Amino acid sequence: MRQIDHLIVGGAGAAARTSEVFDPNNGGVQATVPLGDAALLEKAVQAAQAAQPAWAATNPQRRARIMFKFKELVEANMDELAHMLSSEHGKVIADSKGDVQRGLEVIEFCCGIPHVLKGEYTQGAGPGIDVYSMRQPIGIGAGITPFNFPAMIPMWMFGPAIATGNAFILKPSERDPSVPVRLTELMLEAGLPEGILQCVHGDKEMVDAILDHPAIGGVSFVGSSDIAHYVYNRGVAAGKRVQAMGGAKNHGIVMPDADLDQVVNDLSGAAFGSAGERCMALPVVVPVGEDTADRLREKLLPAIDALRVGISTDEEAHYGPVVNQAHKERVEGWIQKGVDEGAELVVDGRGFSLQGHEDGYFIGPSLFDRVTPDMESYKEEIFGPVLQIVRANDFEEALSLPSQHQYGNGVAIFTRNGNAAREFAARVNVGMVGINVPIPVPVAYHSFGGWKRSAFGDTNQHGMEGVKFWTKVKTITQRWPDGSPEGGNAFVIPTMG
Ligand code: NAD
Repeated sequence: MRQIDHLIVGGAGAAARTSEVFDPNNGGVQATVPLGDAALLEKAVQAAQAAQPAWAATNPQRRARIMFKFKELVEANMDELAHMLSSEHGKVIADSKGDVQRGLEVIEFCCGIPHVLKGEYTQGAGPGIDVYSMRQPIGIGAGITPFNFPAMIPMWMFGPAIATGNAFILKPSERDPSVPVRLTELMLEAGLPEGILQCVHGDKEMVDAILDHPAIGGVSFVGSSDIAHYVYNRGVAAGKRVQAMGGAKNHGIVMPDADLDQVVNDLSGAAFGSAGERCMALPVVVPVGEDTADRLREKLLPAIDALRVGISTDEEAHYGPVVNQAHKERVEGWIQKGVDEGAELVVDGRGFSLQGHEDGYFIGPSLFDRVTPDMESYKEEIFGPVLQIVRANDFEEALSLPSQHQYGNGVAIFTRNGNAAREFAARVNVGMVGINVPIPVPVAYHSFGGWKRSAFGDTNQHGMEGVKFWTKVKTITQRWPDGSPEGGNAFVIPTMG
């Protein structure tokens, strides 16, 4: 059995506890991963503390060069990374490459870190007084990441953290840990000094150790909302800065004037791609008006029928298995819940079996119609290949659905009416909005983050928000007296008046 290891300075030693990594395409266990504890974390923190001051003192251009080199190495290893990712997560190879590529785009942003860190300067803020600010690293940062983007989300975090001069400890999901370890190796191969990026594995025990460790100054978390909320509270109580992204239930509003063929095409990918295991998936569609709803449903049926579910390496497959048996059962449980609550199950993806891979964790696509906001299956995140139609009578009702939902990660509106789109974007109570864009994940030099129970803390991932999260601002007010006598009362608060 393959054994995945921690990647820390000095090595980890034997693990007291381990977890199983499954093979979603075929079922069963393919590897074990150690679950670390506070003692192991301590070792990693000590190595980080030893290495970080020299790294912070390395000029930003040299730090950026390592990012450039890392980018080259990831590109050269793209096939290996994508296959590794698909074999543990289950998403199809092209989607795994997208996972790596979206993370790499954050690394590309980090290649420009010298420009970003230039700071602010005011000459002559007062007589003989200049003011300038600098961004300094927080010291040691940690990242706790979910299973669904094992390449992109670690890079969202360690890219800006390391480029700004921090040491970073990554605690990836124990369900698909191989790619995060490989990315750590590639950073070291790119020339990153030992101790600046380390990868530790674990579950709650390791997460708690990270949250409680006094030497870790900032924690970035992405995962489900209850755990995000817990991580936020515990980390803040320990005096850290914490950004904790949570779950989602993104809505796609379909106005009567929308191009329905385009909408159906977009929805097929956004609802079912990656078996719905994306925090920016579109699992709820809200057609405005009964006529729009009927026409949309009619067009959705053949599109769903044409979806091909296959193993990750099947180039024709639109999506692969979900991550493990427990998640498969959870998703199928939500489908049953929807039926019990009175929603109309138009297409039932349960009981799907793929020939030759009968033990794989496959779920066929499901479609519900006449889902209503009071249903639990609407309120909660299903995170599977399940699309729910919630019919709205008019624009105001459609706008209120995502606005009042507990999650506020992403939302999309499909329309040809610029005025309706503009008003929707301004008024909707959600953090990321797509206008005729089904999955509005912001590009790397903008920032990613939801609202309400989709994110705790006030700073988003990557772009300038990421740089702000991983740095502290220091502001210097300097005066160079010219020697002439100065009056004034030193007991009064100085003003520039
Ligand atoms: P998860 O919450 O189960 O796990 C996330 C991380 O928390 C993992 O590293 C895990 O080891 C750790 N963890 C698990 N249980 C814990 C506990 N009791 N205490 C402390 N830490 C614990 O999430 P997941 O299933 O890996 O990922 C899917 C979830 O992540 C979905 O809810 C999805 O919407 C969300 N997600 C959100 C975003 C976003 O940016 N908002 C992006 C991707 C995924």
